[in-house]
This record gives sequence, structure tokens and C-alpha cells, in this order.
Amino acid sequence: MASSSTIRRDWALDFDVDDVVRSQSADPESVRAHRPKFIELSERALADGLNLIEPVVLMRQLPVATSRHNRVMLANGSHLTGPLITEHLGGAHEVVVMLCTIGDKLGRKAVAESDTNLSYAFALDAVGSAAVHALSAAACNQVEQDATSAGLQTSLPLSPGMEDWGVDPGQREVFSIIDPEEIGVVVSPTLEMRPLKSVTAIIGVGADIATKGAICDYCGLRDTCRQKIV
Ligand code: SF4
Repeated sequence: MASSSTIRRDWALDFDVDDVVRSQSADPESVRAHRPKFIELSERALADGLNLIEPVVLMRQLPVATSRHNRVMLANGSHLTGPLITEHLGGAHEVVVMLCTIGDKLGRKAVAESDTNLSYAFALDAVGSAAVHALSAAACNQVEQDATSAGLQTSLPLSPGMEDWGVDPGQREVFSIIDPEEIGVVVSPTLEMRPLKSVTAIIGVGADIATKGAICDYCGLRDTCRQKIV
């Protein structure tokens, strides 16, 4: 399997105004019944924001060399560590490491609007959150479909910040494998990504790597998040 990075930009994102409402920590059904103007604002932000989204995914697929002692070593000498990693990737033959971003046009528009129209700026920001969520789901689905076509299985997608795989060391490990600047993402010393609407994930691929649970089971936001992936 090739170990060089690939970049893909032709993504169709599947999300709607309900996702934008959920990204503002609101319940679409309740908002529709009691705050129609909130729905109108979210619809306007979605219509405007769709023109400002520039989805791009950087991926790298690497064979697993060894998996033991809380650590998965990859064929290029890099490694991934922690109990979440070994629980889900222990049986993987390969891992796919990905960085998804929607670019910075939408974020810049939201910042510009925040001086004069904070509600609209917040709705635009929510469009960005829903969009990058949809992008990472589409990229993960693509990896799963490719694996299925090859008669293989995939693990849950894991992201730095999930329980038992902290942002540090998780992001440092991810960026030792892929170079975010290949798609214009800049990482600060505190591991914050710019554009902000960017996410990283890794997926294990193997002949016998059953998916365990759901992504949200391992997310620290699961008790408050309205955008749960069932
Ligand atoms: S609970 Fe699930 S949908 Fe919500 S932020 Fe976490 S992983 Fe995403």
C-alpha cells in the first residue's frame, strides 16, 4: 500500500439546516416550534456559508509494524500511543491518518460579521462546524468503502481529544505522520489548528478488526452534544 500522502478536494458534504441548529447547541424541533427566526437566520447562514466552504482532505496510509505495550508502531518509524489506540488499532494491518479542513473563507466572514451582527456570525460559525463534521464523516466513509471493497474491515475513527487519547500527544503523533501545511493548515505551539474548522482522525484497517462501540462513546462532549453520531 502506498505510504505517500494524497489530497482530495471533490467532496459532497451531506448536512442541512438542522445540523447547523444543532451546532449552536439547540434542538431543531423545539426551535422550529418556538423560534422561527432562529431557523431563518440559520438557513440564511447556510445559504451564504456554502459558497465559502473549500473542503480538502489530506490522507496518508501506512502499514503497522508492531502493536504492543500501549503503542502502535508504524512502518515509517512513527508511533501512536495510549489505551484508546491499542484498544481499537491493536489488530490493524494499516492505519489511515487524515486531516480534514474547510479552509478559512467562512471563518474570516464570521469574524468580519461579529462586529455588527453577532447572531449571524454565530450561525456562520455553526455552518463551519457542521461542514467539517460532514467532511470528516465523508472521508471516513470513503476509507470504509475502500476497505470493504478489498475485503477488509475498519476501526472506529479516532481523534486526538477523545477519552484516553489526549490532544497532546495525539496531535503531535498525527503531525509526525502527515504535514498539515500541505493543505494550508497551520498548527500553533499549543496544537491549535488554523483554520479552526479542521479535524484530524485515524482509522485502522485490517482483516479482523471489529468496530467497537460508537465514536460518541469515547467523546468527552457526549453528555451535552446535540449532534450525536448514533
Ligand atoms: S458526542 Fe459525538 S457528535 Fe458530539 S462532538 Fe463528540 S463525537 Fe462529535
